[in-house]
Amino acid sequence: MACLAIVGLALWLGRTIPFAFPAGAVLILALLVYWHSRTTGYRCPICSAEFAISAWADFLSPHMLTTKYVKCPACGQREWMEARMRSGS
Ligand SMILES: [Zn+2]
Repeated sequence: MACLAIVGLALWLGRTIPFAFPAGAVLILALLVYWHSRTTGYRCPICSAEFAISAWADFLSPHMLTTKYVKCPACGQREWMEARMRSGS
């Protein structure tokens, strides 16, 4: 009976692990985006408000190397803004 259980477990793992790799990659990507959104801030060039964006907005917004097209929460303007590291708070 124990042998059957181990064979069954091995078969289950063999079927499960190929799906675990993309799931792991997605999880790591999500963590990176979350970390980026938490450590990056933006300054609005129009009203000079400083703000951070949500991980979801970070993921969806187009970006160049150091600039990102984001909407300012203070004045509502969409603009390319330079990403700045936020000092940990
Ligand atoms: Zn603004």
